[in-house]
Amino acid sequence: MLRELELAEIVSLAGLEMRGEAESATVIEAAPVAVAAPDVSAYSWEQLRETVRDCRACGLCNGRKQAVFGVGAVTGPWLFVGEGPGADEDEQGDPFVGQAGRLLDSMLAAAGLERGRDTYIANVVKCRPPGNRTPTADEAKACAAFLDRQIDLVNPKIIVALGKTAAARFLDNDNASLGSLRGRVHAYRGRPLVVTYHPAYLLRTLPDKAKAWDDLLLARRTLRAAA
Ligand code: URA
Repeated sequence: MLRELELAEIVSLAGLEMRGEAESATVIEAAPVAVAAPDVSAYSWEQLRETVRDCRACGLCNGRKQAVFGVGAVTGPWLFVGEGPGADEDEQGDPFVGQAGRLLDSMLAAAGLERGRDTYIANVVKCRPPGNRTPTADEAKACAAFLDRQIDLVNPKIIVALGKTAAARFLDNDNASLGSLRGRVHAYRGRPLVVTYHPAYLLRTLPDKAKAWDDLLLARRTLRAAA
C-alpha cells in the first residue's frame, strides 16, 4: 500500500495535477508511459483526428478530458495558432471557446473573417496543460508532427502565431521577445507567418490591442500580395 507522500510524489513526477480524483490507484496505473506518435506526415484529416484523440505521446494526456484538435475552414487560407487548450476548450473540445476566444472572434470579425469561414484555428499542444501552465518545449515537440500535418493539409496562405509559445514553436527561438518578432513577415514550412499577441494577454493589456490590429493588417496585406 502506498503512503500518501509516495503517491503525491509519483503523481507530481508524472506531471499530473494532484486533484481529488488523482489520489486513486487508477490514475497511477495511467501514469504517462510516453507512447511515441506514429508518422502522421501522410495522414488524412480523419486519420489525424483519430490519432490526436487517442494520443499518449506526453504526460498531458493524463489530465485531459479530451484532446482539442482544431476547428474551421480546412482549406484556409488563414491559419491561427494558439498555445493550448484551457478549461473551457478541454470541456467543449474546440479551441478558443473561452474569454480569449471571444476576443479572437471579435478580432477576426474586425478583419472581415469568421471562425469556420476562410479561417482554421489550432493550438501548439492539443491537450490542456494542468492549471493552464505554459506547455513545455518537450510537450510542444510531442505534438509538433500533428500541427505540421494540419498545416500541410490546410495549406494556408498566411499563418498567424498567437503569442509567445506559438511564435517560439514556429521560429525555434525561445529567447526573443514577442515584441521583437512582430511587425515583420517570417516563414514556416514555406508559408508566410506573422506573429502577434495572444488574445489572453490582450485581455490584460488593452493598449496592445492596437498593435495586434496592425499585425492582422500586415497578415492581410501579406496574404493579398501572395494571392
Ligand atoms: N488559449 C489558447 O492558446 N488556445 C485555446 O484554444 C484557448 C486559449
